[in-house]
Amino acid sequence: MDPEFWNREIETMPIEEIKALQWKLMKNMVTHAYNNAPFYKNMYNNVGITPNDIKTWSDFKKLPTFAKPDMRTDIENNPPYSSLLAVDKREISFISNSSGTTGQPMISPYCKEEVDNIVDVSARFFYAQGLRKEDVYMHCLNMSLFVASPSIMSVHEIGAAAIWAGILPYERLVQMAQAVEATTLLTTPSFAWRFGEKLINDGYDLKKDFKIKRFIVAGEPGGSIPETQRALREVWGEDLQIGEVYGMSEVYGCLAGACKAHDGLHIAEDHIFVEIIDPETGKELPDGETGEIVVTALTKTCRPMIRYRTGDMGWIDRSQCVCGRTHARIHVAGRRDNMFIVSGVNVFPSDIEGVVRQMPELNGEFVVHIQNDRLSACYTVDVERKSGCLLSCEEIALKLKKMLKKVLIAAPKTVNVYEENTLPRNDMKAVRIIDDRKK
Ligand SMILES: [Zn+2]
Repeated sequence: MDPEFWNREIETMPIEEIKALQWKLMKNMVTHAYNNAPFYKNMYNNVGITPNDIKTWSDFKKLPTFAKPDMRTDIENNPPYSSLLAVDKREISFISNSSGTTGQPMISPYCKEEVDNIVDVSARFFYAQGLRKEDVYMHCLNMSLFVASPSIMSVHEIGAAAIWAGILPYERLVQMAQAVEATTLLTTPSFAWRFGEKLINDGYDLKKDFKIKRFIVAGEPGGSIPETQRALREVWGEDLQIGEVYGMSEVYGCLAGACKAHDGLHIAEDHIFVEIIDPETGKELPDGETGEIVVTALTKTCRPMIRYRTGDMGWIDRSQCVCGRTHARIHVAGRRDNMFIVSGVNVFPSDIEGVVRQMPELNGEFVVHIQNDRLSACYTVDVERKSGCLLSCEEIALKLKKMLKKVLIAAPKTVNVYEENTLPRNDMKAVRIIDDRKK
């Protein structure tokens, strides 16, 4: 077994070869989708482009993009798999269902080969993040109908012990993690952090009572925020390893993941082609600029996803990573729905999180309220003062306000500092943004 790479040949493939591979896969995928999925045939016919017209990447980028509402409408009209389905139903091997939808469920079907691909790509990133045969991995994310669930099989591929934990009540989780001597937990960053704090409050010594040395986080952008990483290490110890994977139900459970450098997430470019566009104009943005992440799945024949607007915002870094992997890296800033504009400045909750987690006077909990302010928006930040802190709530509020203005340019209208354990807690995905404008 290679000590560093799950698949050295793929992960360190020269960029020109990746491009050539992507070109071949993209051409096949567009042709397959056009010939087999009415959704694509209609959409491309409407703009007068056939697969044969695509001679360059610029031609490919003329194909229309689409987003979740388009899929939802199509599913309503063609339940349950939509007219994006491009294979016989008997080919379907795995079905996931994204959470929080109404009406027809947002079902995502996958063929067997695609499940194998998800498993292989997850193994690639778990391995890059240090997971090895001797590890005991607990999968602590919801497993029902969830697209990240097949990732647990990649742990078996690596040869580590995989515990299909799912969401367990706190006491059960503690009991299991201790009993099996878990070394690695897959969960959200906010849960990892809160879990540690609760254990300390309950009198546990995280070093002596547990063998946990690594969190692989997903589902929230926090894993990539240095201040959140620091907050996690403050609780779990300086030597805590933090891995991260990124995926979405409609495309792949895992399509990008961190390496040990954790400077952006390497895209699995042998399966995924990523573009960044201006969400308003749809125009492609240069590398390094933040825009909406548009994804094309290059090997997903079951339900092709070509130029899919993910609703996530981020930017691409194509420079060589210190780890030796050649695949481009994506920095995910957060959901586009969560971004808001204050006097012309784009504000991402992840930036607010970065500032809040920098302040030693705060315990890291925060909730942002977005409100109408004449023709623009304004925001309020609620935080909690760390117990034992010497500054008063008023002093902390002033300090945080100044720091937010310095980092984000757009200052908050109000900062409310509360005593510890005042703000509402959520078990898994933290509710950080409350948009009062929609009320
Ligand atoms: Zn790297």
